[in-house]
Amino acid sequence: MKVFKFGGASVKDAIGIKNVANIISGHKNNNLIVVVSAMGKVTNLLEELTKAYYYKTSNAKDVLEKIKQYHLQIIDELFEGENHIIYQEINSIFKIINEKVENQVSSPFDSQYDQLVSLGEFLSSKILSAYLNLTGYKNEWIDARDFLKTDSTFREAKINWELSQKLWDEKYKPLLEKGQNTYVTQGFIGSNAENLTTTLGRDGSDYSAAIISHIANAKDLTIWKDVPGLLNADPKWFDETEIISQISYQDAIELAYYGANIIHPKTIKPLQNKSIPLFVKSFINPETPGTVIDQNTSKLPVACFIFKVNQVLISISPKDFSFIIEENLSHIFKIFADYRVKIHVMNNTALKFSVCIDFDEQKNTDLVNKLSETFKVNVKNGLELVTIRYYDQKTIDRVTENKQIFLELKSRNTVQMVMSDVVEQSK
Ligand code: ASP
Ligand code: MG
Repeated sequence: MKVFKFGGASVKDAIGIKNVANIISGHKNNNLIVVVSAMGKVTNLLEELTKAYYYKTSNAKDVLEKIKQYHLQIIDELFEGENHIIYQEINSIFKIINEKVENQVSSPFDSQYDQLVSLGEFLSSKILSAYLNLTGYKNEWIDARDFLKTDSTFREAKINWELSQKLWDEKYKPLLEKGQNTYVTQGFIGSNAENLTTTLGRDGSDYSAAIISHIANAKDLTIWKDVPGLLNADPKWFDETEIISQISYQDAIELAYYGANIIHPKTIKPLQNKSIPLFVKSFINPETPGTVIDQNTSKLPVACFIFKVNQVLISISPKDFSFIIEENLSHIFKIFADYRVKIHVMNNTALKFSVCIDFDEQKNTDLVNKLSETFKVNVKNGLELVTIRYYDQKTIDRVTENKQIFLELKSRNTVQMVMSDVVEQSK
């Protein structure tokens, strides 16, 4: 059994859906589970809708109408002139959204967010499944919430592995064992013990696909992307990039963890634990080999560069000249965890603990206010973070020309540098 994952960019319009259907229909002799994200930028729009509804900032109805028209146009193109049942299905999902948005706000933001934002994946999976059936590729639409169980950390729900495995084994395993079947389901979402919808965090569909591969004992997982495979740097920053044809789970985890925008960082572990290979392939050129991530242990032949802009360096020191010691650190880490701020690099000296994080005006202000109750806090905005895996002096020189380095951390294989452009001193 195989698992395919298609992200929002692959299903952003009718042509995209047709292309995806074409890729899927090339795999007739396999049990297949297709995991799909919301179409195009629908998740962003649903976020906007949720904020408008919750904070009454702008007209939620307008945003909702935009989302509705976007989907209707796509189904008009796919189900031409047909009085297809998909219209009823899509309209009933929009009726649910409409009712929610008309109701008074009744629960905390994160919970409301998950109830609304998750619907993007419902819409896309319904449309893809119906289109596959229409074009002769028989498949069954399944609701990920029926087997993907989580805790109640809305917007970043944690998987209940045991229960998810049990539900899968009870319901779907016997069906897959019976013979060829294709299922279409949603990425990004699950449900908690009360059967309320939860989401796994933005861009979580890769992770969903890995979880499903794990519990369904998939032979392999393919993530179909708009790039030809894993590259050693983002073409946005480098003119010359190389495709990595094979990479170990370990390297892939490290790269994703350091922020390479290839796959969601949580994706690899569930695959590695069962030695399930992950293919990253292009949905634009599906016949090209792409990248395989598997249990090989070879080092990469090229250096990999990961750039993050809009970084913030926060330096934290005790107000009273005491040292940065374990108690201080545990207090600091607790604050970061409470405010859900992810640390990209950290470093401590006797008197100072420094971290590099993403810029987020609201979150960072709240975080710094909280830290300032106990510590002296210094904030430097507008920085960039460069990580090089398998670095040497030449690769470091290449990225640090005309840069001022504020923090540098080296391990055997990886160097991380927080830096900014050198500002010319005016004479
Ligand atoms: N649709 C969700 C998002 O845009 C999940 C995903 O695309 O992976 O964040
Ligand atoms: Mg998406």
